[in-house]
Amino acid sequence: MKISTLYQSQNPVISFEIFPPKSTSPVETIYETLEGLIKLEPGFISVTYGAGGSSRDRTKEIAATIKNRYKIEALAHLTCVGQAVNEIDQILNELQEENIENVLALRGDPPADAQNYDFSDSDFKYASDLVRHIKNSSNVCVAAAAYPEGHAHCRRLSDDLNWLKYKVDQGVDFLISQLFFDNRIFYNFLENALRVNIHCPVVAGILPVLNAKQIKRIISLCGASMPAKLLMLVDKYGDNAEDMEKAGIEYASQQVRDLLESGVDGIHLYTMNKPQQVTEILKNVGKA
Ligand code: FAD
Repeated sequence: MKISTLYQSQNPVISFEIFPPKSTSPVETIYETLEGLIKLEPGFISVTYGAGGSSRDRTKEIAATIKNRYKIEALAHLTCVGQAVNEIDQILNELQEENIENVLALRGDPPADAQNYDFSDSDFKYASDLVRHIKNSSNVCVAAAAYPEGHAHCRRLSDDLNWLKYKVDQGVDFLISQLFFDNRIFYNFLENALRVNIHCPVVAGILPVLNAKQIKRIISLCGASMPAKLLMLVDKYGDNAEDMEKAGIEYASQQVRDLLESGVDGIHLYTMNKPQQVTEILKNVGKA
């Protein structure tokens, strides 16, 4: 089933993101995570794609397990940076052979050690090229990423929004947002998206802050801003793992509750492969 149809029938759609286990761990270690998440009856589960395609086979295998064994829709992430058209086509064929009908089309980041990476040499320079290619060559439902605070490499928010509009016009069925910690940022973004005539569903990406070290690393990677209220929580509880986790679950629960009240299309929880904490959040908001 195409995930886009869920946004017409369910309001809101609750979904999860997981990542494949490291290559040094057996792929089966993800099953425990999945068993915990599936009990929560999500609309779909997305599976990340390691930088540069490093988790390609595992992403496919786990997405296929979600779809064919657990009978839940799977959204396979796919990045195109540094990939040739025939490589992308091969992956798309493999996904479709596994009945996976939904792809999150991403540009991806250049390798960390490649300074001044030249995107102009790539078959695909931007995610919009990948979206167009998938739509022209298959019947797959395509999601794409959106950045309520702007993408880290884009100097002007208005440019980012215009490129997002261009990407959507290439055939995006729904958008999933980068994580944010202040819902007002997301609501402003929704207004701005409407202003430039983006009318597809825009799903709110929520990351529960479960430990202080994790949050510093993630913020440095994605550039999301930290509201004073959250900074104070990390300051107060950061040294105590148990208290920090409790505070993080409460903070995420408040964000989700407010988003539900405001009638968002969907909430995509970045689970960090932690089903127990996700269960607590959904219980707190009456969704489990
Ligand atoms: P794009 O949409 O191509 O945008 C990238 C930048 O280029 C932006 O600054 C945009 O404004 C600009 N731009 C776009 N089009 C044009 C144009 N035509 N001309 C000039 N500028 C343009 N990474 C992974 O490696 N694996 C994952 O599984 C993964 N999952 C993600 C899931 C979500 C929900 C999100 C939000 C991000 C994810 N990422 C993942 C990170 C993502 O790959 C990076 O943020 C990457 O830098 C941008 O990818 P994109 O698809 O948003 O790029």
